[in-house]
Amino acid sequence: MLLDTLNQGGSGPWPTPTPAATEADTFDQLVATLIPCREYDAELWFAESTVDVELAKSLCQECPLREGCLAGAVDRQEPWGVWGGEVFVGGVVVPRKRGRGRPRKDQSAPAA
Ligand code: SF4
Repeated sequence: MLLDTLNQGGSGPWPTPTPAATEADTFDQLVATLIPCREYDAELWFAESTVDVELAKSLCQECPLREGCLAGAVDRQEPWGVWGGEVFVGGVVVPRKRGRGRPRKDQSAPAA
């Protein structure tokens, strides 16, 4: 009797989505069009390339969740990525992400 209620698998048709699931899908699709990091590839918000990071920052400027996103990221001290249009490195906001490579020489260091 219990087995009658279980999905038997096999090659039968997929179950028809319930109206609630369809509405949830529609809502998710609508939200995705309003929130750039859901519309675009989320890897952009964690990119290494300075160009990609700047693009993510600019896309965040259009996001209706920007202020809350930034406040949450500050509270959580996000270790990495673009949140609320700002770049986080090591839990703090930095003006811009530096690319990989050798660190810039300190101009104030005495010459050897
Ligand atoms: S502000 Fe936050 S939620 Fe909005 S696109 Fe940027 S990272 Fe995503």
